[in-house]
Amino acid sequence: REPLLRVKGLKKHFPIRGGLLGKEVGQVKAVEGVSFTVQKGETLGIVGESGCGKSTTGRMLLRLIEPTEGKVFFEGKDVTSLSKNELRKMRRDMQMVFQDPFASLNPRHTVEKILEEPLKVHGIGTAAERKKRVKELLEIVGLSSYHAKRYPHQFSGGQRQRIGIARALMTRPKLIIADEPVSALDVSIQSQVLNLMQDLQKEFQLTYIVIAHDLGVVRHISDRVGVMYLGKMAELTTSEKLYDKPLHPYTQALLSAVPIPDPLYEKESIVLQGDIPSPSNPPSGCIFHTRCPLKMDICEKAVPQLMEHEEGHYVACHLYSEEGQAASQNKEIHK
Ligand code: SF4
Ligand code: MG
Repeated sequence: REPLLRVKGLKKHFPIRGGLLGKEVGQVKAVEGVSFTVQKGETLGIVGESGCGKSTTGRMLLRLIEPTEGKVFFEGKDVTSLSKNELRKMRRDMQMVFQDPFASLNPRHTVEKILEEPLKVHGIGTAAERKKRVKELLEIVGLSSYHAKRYPHQFSGGQRQRIGIARALMTRPKLIIADEPVSALDVSIQSQVLNLMQDLQKEFQLTYIVIAHDLGVVRHISDRVGVMYLGKMAELTTSEKLYDKPLHPYTQALLSAVPIPDPLYEKESIVLQGDIPSPSNPPSGCIFHTRCPLKMDICEKAVPQLMEHEEGHYVACHLYSEEGQAASQNKEIHK
């Protein structure tokens, strides 16, 4: 079955310019060959520390940022080769929810105007139909039609994110890419917004990509989760498998930092040494080797590929690669 979204070898390199002439002196490898699929109705979480390339990846799917390399197929159609006009049409079906709802809502526009905007851009409906749709959507996201004449600053953070979600839904999209949709909100409000997103998903058969830096946030909402590090996918599998049996040392470290509600269960926290290396000068071999507590000799030399270790469980690490296994067996023999 053709997935709703298929991403193949996506890369984004930003030039670094320097000197008086602004010559290119290097490149930031923000995204370095990311591939995944998303099935219709599914939620894929993408998780990683800031600077891992997750937001850039999300934006490239809509071509809000143009990829340096790679392909994005939406319903089998190659998004990366669409003309501006075709792309605009396709964006009816793919919408984005942003992290900071205040920054992404025009402060001088009423909620009505903000919500109408996507319909106007796509030439959908008459003025009266658009206004009706605004009222409908406000109620769907748990606000009221009397909110239509108000301005963004008159709402709380959680309400503003509801407006951001309503705006994304105006064109009846199939796919929503939500970039840190709750990280600007109080913890008490976060679960309300996530619950709303889940209800909307059921009601409108939506497909989600939810980007977050916090594994705790995406756990319950995601069917599958991909963990990114320094522009690459380190691990990708179902939520269940990822949280029960993380394979990649990086995922293991991230998970060890997520608080567990059960006080009887103690776990050891894995503290990663060092900082995230610069994406303009990534480490050789496995990009995680400078911080990995399980590093082997081969890790500095050979790049581990993302491969299927168990059914539906992908990991990029030499602990599971043939090369890695061979290298460690050799070591045994030479002992
Ligand atoms: Fe650690 Fe090596 Fe695996 Fe990289 S390949 S995560 S350095 S064990
Ligand atoms: Mg980001």
